[in-house]
Amino acid sequence: MMRLHYAGVAAALIASAFVAQAQQQAPAPAQTPAPAPATASPPPPTATTKVTDNVYIFRYVGHQAMFIVTPAGVIATDPISERRPAKPYIDAIQAVTKAPIKYVIYSHGHFDHSAGGQPFKDLGATFVAQRNAKARIQALKPADVVVPDQVVDDKKVITLGGTTLELLYLGKNHSDSTLVMRLPKEKIIFTVDWIPIQGVQFREMADTYIPDIEDGLKKVIAMDWETLIPGHPGPGGKQTGTKDNARDQLAYLQDLSAAVKQEVDQGKSYDDAVKDISLPKYAAWPNYKNFLPMNIERYYDFWNRGI
Ligand SMILES: [Zn+2]
Repeated sequence: MMRLHYAGVAAALIASAFVAQAQQQAPAPAQTPAPAPATASPPPPTATTKVTDNVYIFRYVGHQAMFIVTPAGVIATDPISERRPAKPYIDAIQAVTKAPIKYVIYSHGHFDHSAGGQPFKDLGATFVAQRNAKARIQALKPADVVVPDQVVDDKKVITLGGTTLELLYLGKNHSDSTLVMRLPKEKIIFTVDWIPIQGVQFREMADTYIPDIEDGLKKVIAMDWETLIPGHPGPGGKQTGTKDNARDQLAYLQDLSAAVKQEVDQGKSYDDAVKDISLPKYAAWPNYKNFLPMNIERYYDFWNRGI
C-alpha cells in the first residue's frame, strides 16, 4: 500500500524533517535534488537509524524495515525493494556488521513491502512469513517476491545471538497475513500498514478486514511494548511511534465507523455520507482530505452490505 503516499512522504522527508532524527547514521538524507540529467535519475534516498544497540531502521524513500544485529547474525525484515535495487539495504546492514544475514521476515504479503528479496536469498537468508502470505505469493507468483521458506501460524519465536524476536499473528487486520514482530527485551514492535504514526487508512482500505482491525488494535494495545516501528514514516519523517499511535488509530476507526453507521441508519447514500462526514480531530493527519472519502466508502459497505 501507500504507493501514492510516496510523493507526500518523500517531499516531507527531503524537506528537512530528518534533521530531527539525531540518531541517524550514514548515508545522510538527500537534500532537495538538483534537476536530474535526462539520462539518469538520482538514486532513491535511504537512511539507517539506530533505535537501540541492536535494532535499526532502514528507510528507503517512503518505506521502512527493521533489522536486528546480533553477534550470530542479522534478522532483517521486509526487503522493500519493489522495482528498485535491494543493494542499498544490504549495504546499510553491512555498514553496521559483517555478520551474516540469517533471516528475512515479511511483515505481511503485500508486494510493496515483500518484493526484492532475491539478493538476500543469494546471501543465504531464510525467508519467513505468515502462512497466508506464503499462500498468496504462491498463488499470484509475483516475479520479484521470494517465496517464504518457513511459515508462522499463530506464533513463532526466533532466538539468535542472545536476541529473542516473537513473530505474532493476531488475526486479520490490514491483511490476513500481518505479523506483529515483538522484541520483548527491547520493548519494540515492528508491524506494517495498519498503525500509522498519525494517518488515516490507505485509500479504500483494500484487503482490510472490518471490524477485525479494531479487535487487532485492542490486542496490540494490551501487549507489552513501548516503541512502534511502522512500515512508513509519519508526518515530518518521524520514524518511531508509541502506544498512543495505536490508541489514536483505534479511536479514528471507531469514530469513522460510528459516523458512517449513522448515515446508513438514516438511509443516506454513499455520496451523502462522504459529504456529511467530517472528523475534525483527525483533519491534520496526512491524506485526511484525499483518503477520508474512500475510508468512508469502505465503512459504508460494511454497515450497508455487511462486507
Ligand atoms: Zn500493506
